Amino acid sequence: MGRRELRDLYDPDAVSAAFRTSEVGIDPEALAGLVRDRLNDDPAIRCRLLTHVKGVERNGSGLDVEFENGAGPGRERYDQIVNALWDGRLAVDRTVGLEPPRPWMWRMKHFVRLRAPGAAVPCSTIVLGAFGDVVVYRGQDLYLSWYPAGMRDISIELEPPRWPSASEGGFSGEIRDQILDGLAAIVPAVGRLPLDADAVSVKGGVIFAWGETDIDDPDSGLHERHAIGTRSSEGYHSIDTGKLTMAPLFAQVAADRVLGMA
Ligand SMILES: Cc1cc2nc3c(=O)[nH]c(=O)nc-3n(C[C@H](O)[C@H](O)[C@H](O)COP(=O)(O)OP(=O)(O)OC[C@H]3O[C@@H](n4cnc5c(N)ncnc54)[C@H](O)[C@@H]3O)c2cc1C
Repeated sequence: MGRRELRDLYDPDAVSAAFRTSEVGIDPEALAGLVRDRLNDDPAIRCRLLTHVKGVERNGSGLDVEFENGAGPGRERYDQIVNALWDGRLAVDRTVGLEPPRPWMWRMKHFVRLRAPGAAVPCSTIVLGAFGDVVVYRGQDLYLSWYPAGMRDISIELEPPRWPSASEGGFSGEIRDQILDGLAAIVPAVGRLPLDADAVSVKGGVIFAWGETDIDDPDSGLHERHAIGTRSSEGYHSIDTGKLTMAPLFAQVAADRVLGMA
């Protein structure tokens, strides 16, 4: 971007250079709706909802899944298992004898969703220093994240604790203001967004990554997000998705391995 365009869109005191890229933003809420519809509509998929998987045990040539639901504990045998549990993945892997190959971190990251039709805000990824994103979906739905405000908790346990959502913890307003202020100092148009209470929400999710130190350490393993993928052992497949964008590829790899063994 030339200096004039950069000055129109960003605070030139905060941004020394900006580059246009071909990156495409996918709205995970819209994507989740499509996945839910498919799970509902496909008669070949049997959903077991409100069911917590406790572990997997090898049993002869099969694999027994132990689970718990409203009706109590249960156990069911399968030929092959794909573990795609993200925040529950390592704990279930351990029950079948797969240990994490290196140290890892769980981070709870909050963000703002905002509906603002026609908002003139540039989609931006801030990549150096404390970082954040502005993503505009369909010209009306915004995803706003500012790492120093949104990342509230870290765990190095096998399974992350059940961290409270921003509304449960009573800190929605605080996080919303900090995220908007942090971004507005770099992308001034964020500071001019209409903040209609019905149209703003603070949400969050757990991020898994290999590494021992936080993102502000240039040597942190968190910057090595390429060492991810599908690990298989005799009919048991564990998917370390790493990034949402990798999920389709790793699903294909897992499906090929399942069919190769069938
Ligand atoms: C704030 C935030 C921003 C992100 N930004 C990006 C980004 O810009 N680009 C990108 O590529 N990725 C991003 N990610 C990462 C991305 O969201 C994840 O990589 C992706 O969602 C992982 O998909 P998955 O299918 O592996 O797991 P999930 O979508 O988390 O699905 C796992 C499911 O398993 C369930 N589960 C867990 N344990 C158990 C159990 N024991 N029994 C039963 N069910 C269980 C969970 O409740 C969950 O529903 C971001 C994540 C967060 C939180």
